[in-house]
Amino acid sequence: MQFDISDLAQGKKLYLGTNNRKKIVELVNLLEPRGFEIRIPGDFSDSFDVDETGATFLENARLKAVSQARHRGLWAIGEDSGLCVPALGGRPGIYSARFSGSNANDQTNNALLLKEMESIPRENRRAYYVSTIVLSDPTGGIHIETNGECWGRVLTESRGGGGFGYDPLFEIEEYHQTFAEMGLGVKRAISHRARALRAFLNRLDVMMAS
Ligand code: IMP
Repeated sequence: MQFDISDLAQGKKLYLGTNNRKKIVELVNLLEPRGFEIRIPGDFSDSFDVDETGATFLENARLKAVSQARHRGLWAIGEDSGLCVPALGGRPGIYSARFSGSNANDQTNNALLLKEMESIPRENRRAYYVSTIVLSDPTGGIHIETNGECWGRVLTESRGGGGFGYDPLFEIEEYHQTFAEMGLGVKRAISHRARALRAFLNRLDVMMAS
């Protein structure tokens, strides 16, 4: 069966193929106002994590979107994201979630990032988050791929209790605040994920209109 984007427009049922609860909140906040009926892994008893075997954010987002969509028989979004530090040759990059090893968590990842950047001066601590979003139909056909970036600076100590991942270390210079200090409303407006999703929704609008 061939799927067309108008099928998604009609059904409006969209599966978010991620188990990261903080990501889900950010994505749901941006998608629900557009009338999508969101489904998440927690709604099902047979949910699974996709192995991130790709070499790029795009390859990993494709793997997530396609395997989750096929498994679920629903239109699905796959998202892959991470923090890239040019002074570290782009690391942690696609390895952001497992930077400090197979048992990594946000604390151990942040501690390793601080250690690796110990001797890097302020002017070389610029970094950017990347988010790549892919939309797959229920058969694994890819219809949309978009990307968003958000630049900031890696601090030498954590600030703030919100957000997740590297947010307490990631300062948006114009705001003099880390992603963990600013409210979700601001992050929702300027983050890499928000930018990728806005590009995604624009593309969706164009495709639906043509
Ligand atoms: P993924 O689930 O494989 O895409 O891994 C994403 C990882 O990148 C997370 O576990 C975080 O370490 C990092 N990351 C991505 N987006 C954000 C964000 O908005 N804030 C903080 N860390 C993020």
